[in-house]
Amino acid sequence: MTYRTCLACKVVGPPSATQGTRAEPVGFVSLYLSELLQVRPTEVRDEPCLAYGSGGIAYALCRTAVRACDICRPKLLASARKWIQRSLVAAQTLTYPDWPRHSFSRGFAGLYATGAMIESLSNRPAPARRFIGLYLARVRRSFRSPELFEGAAGHLAGIAMLLMLPWSDAETRKLQRTGDAIARRLITRLRKPTASLSRAGIAHGRAGLVLALVQWLAWSKSIDRNEVGALVGACRAQRNNPFWANGSAGMVQLFALAERALPNRGFKSRARTQALRSVAAADSGHPMVIDGPPGIALALLELASVDPSGAWRRRARNVMKSTLARLEVPEQRIYGLWGGLSGLYCLALDLQYGSWSGFPGLGA
Ligand SMILES: [Zn+2]
Repeated sequence: MTYRTCLACKVVGPPSATQGTRAEPVGFVSLYLSELLQVRPTEVRDEPCLAYGSGGIAYALCRTAVRACDICRPKLLASARKWIQRSLVAAQTLTYPDWPRHSFSRGFAGLYATGAMIESLSNRPAPARRFIGLYLARVRRSFRSPELFEGAAGHLAGIAMLLMLPWSDAETRKLQRTGDAIARRLITRLRKPTASLSRAGIAHGRAGLVLALVQWLAWSKSIDRNEVGALVGACRAQRNNPFWANGSAGMVQLFALAERALPNRGFKSRARTQALRSVAAADSGHPMVIDGPPGIALALLELASVDPSGAWRRRARNVMKSTLARLEVPEQRIYGLWGGLSGLYCLALDLQYGSWSGFPGLGA
């Protein structure tokens, strides 16, 4: 799609463009995008991953480029490419003993997927294919953890996200074959007793595996839809936790996705109940997706996409405004997608454009 102007014009375009106040999504978009385009690599000392570090910068720039005008798009993609290259170089030399190097959110997998998105949007098929090859090689040799945040469910959600971009038939078949193999292993794992996956919530619990399977339904002809529906019905949040990683907001996202993939099974009603629980606590927490209001507001946008009459988008905007009004920039992990401010930035983009691009990192 071609756009004549975009939100990035205020930063990348002519200097006469005006900025709003910080408390409005458009003001925050301009301020944060300026920061992303000016920050130097030596100033980003966090892990080079998607969730917490410089991979989040590349992803946020990529998201901005999707709706950017013809002037801004190539500049944004060029900057995103530099950040993904820097992140990959830094990841090669990372020596944390417990670093989950295969993880989508914290390791190489998410960086390769973001690289593939950047090159696909740049119409550079050869480097895009190279990133797909690296991604698939990485995820095929790792099934140590099944969870969304660090393991195979994250890999499957990443493949579902990549398939939303245009690929050749050969690349599409490779992605679908690998996705089906991961999905089969996740279902086998979910059929076992719960002891090995006892944590509640999306990021580390059974619900995260189920979320990836629900997303995969759009691409698979071999998964039993009724079995996935039963798995969704059995998912629970951590008690009294309103946030995305372990609590109600994650369930809102799961049930809303399930309503789209498996309609008329009562999932919309369960999403609404969990959404009201989340909104009631949206004035607390950190300004990040994992355990703060941005994760709640993003889940509300997911729900709005299947329940447009529910005023969820207006509620998401209110959550965003109150978050911006009391925003303090964290001292560490500023730029991460799920554990920094880039998730809040992706939320502001969708609110300002009146769009829904999918959950950051889990939707193209
Ligand atoms: Zn522009």
